Amino acid sequence: MKEITAIEHMPRLDPNGLMRLMSWVTVLSLLVILSLAGYGIHRVFTAHVIHNAEETAVGLSELLSGEGRLLLDKSGHLTLSAPNRERLDHRLRTLSAPFDVVKIKIYDATGKILYSTDPGIIGQIDEGNPRLTKALAGQVDSRLESRETVLDLADEQQFDVDVVETYVPILDDHQIAGCFELYMDVTRYREEIRRGVLASTGLLALILVSVFTAAFLVVRRGVLQLRQAQEQLTQLTSIDPLTGAFNRGEILNRARKEASRLRRAMNQSPDQAIALVMVDIDRFKAINDRHGYLVGDTVLRQVVRRIKIELRDYDLFGRYGGEEFLAILPGSDLPAALAVAERIRQAVGETPLDVEGQSLPVTISLGVAILAGDVLDLTGTLQQADEALSRAKSTGRNRVCCAEAETPPEETQP
Ligand code: GH3
Ligand code: MG
Ligand code: MG
Repeated sequence: MKEITAIEHMPRLDPNGLMRLMSWVTVLSLLVILSLAGYGIHRVFTAHVIHNAEETAVGLSELLSGEGRLLLDKSGHLTLSAPNRERLDHRLRTLSAPFDVVKIKIYDATGKILYSTDPGIIGQIDEGNPRLTKALAGQVDSRLESRETVLDLADEQQFDVDVVETYVPILDDHQIAGCFELYMDVTRYREEIRRGVLASTGLLALILVSVFTAAFLVVRRGVLQLRQAQEQLTQLTSIDPLTGAFNRGEILNRARKEASRLRRAMNQSPDQAIALVMVDIDRFKAINDRHGYLVGDTVLRQVVRRIKIELRDYDLFGRYGGEEFLAILPGSDLPAALAVAERIRQAVGETPLDVEGQSLPVTISLGVAILAGDVLDLTGTLQQADEALSRAKSTGRNRVCCAEAETPPEETQP
């Protein structure tokens, strides 16, 4: 009994809630994983494009260095006179034409722009440019930038362009004489990157959705089993296995709940009531003695079936003891409850039961009490119903008695 009470008070896991939680967690995980993966894959593709552009820029710089070296004076400094600049400009443009180069700058070792395909900036000093500083310290540095407009080598304005800007140091006898800055147009890879990211992320999504779906199906099967186990547990802890009616613990629980509900409803309409009807089979021991215990069991089942037919959907019915039952009729006052009790008595007693082919007359006695008024005392009312039942027994059985003395039990006598 102690164990059953513990199970009854155990917090219930809601299997549907678990499934909903799992669905949310799955969707959120998918979104997070795919966003992070998409971002990572985009970075890998972009890094690849930058790396390729950088390699091209370094190769091209080596090619261009031959021209750049023309600018070195005897002391190894880069210098450029106006006629030389024109020649250099022509040569650089011709050499760079096949390589998607949109702009070239040459810096001297002090960060001054000696040459640019955009002549307007020649002579300017690019101060505070950390990437230039790195290049002048001997490091190649590349970065992908998106530009709204770029003037290409053919002096045509290009719009919405992705360029990889690469700084390549110019070495002269292991001395850094200056650096190139090359702008490579990589816009044509943009669509390729987009498609690559979409394809990779899509494939990943497909794999993840398959894995999650498989996991979901396994968990759902587990949850269904859990639900069945919970239902069986509920059956075990609340249903009387012989008759299918609520067991004593459950019917008393329900009675307490109904009493609480009535207490709350009293505030709005104080004349509400609940009827308690105690039912006991007459001389049941004699049936057992005469026909055997198994026949007795069948009688119990058939009596319960007949009683239940007379009750409304929201009435509650349970086995209170061996051959004693309790019906709870919410919203019934005394006259209504007496009428129901009488109907039940007739339903059981007027036609003999048919047990294994033999006709067996069975009668029942009933005690009715009403839970109402200011003091809602469930235990007291149950006791009143029990006393009424005892009176029905002592006054001849097969009858309905009520707890209130003014209602004569003889009214419902057969
Ligand atoms: P009364 O009219 O005064 O109620 O007499 P009664 O014989 O019905 O009452 P009593 O309390 O003397 O006997 C009840 C019997 O019910 C005794 C018990 O063996 C029997 N009983 C209790 N539970 C079961 C059950 O599950 N199956 C069967 N077959 N009999 C049961
Ligand atoms: Mg009895
Ligand atoms: Mg009894």
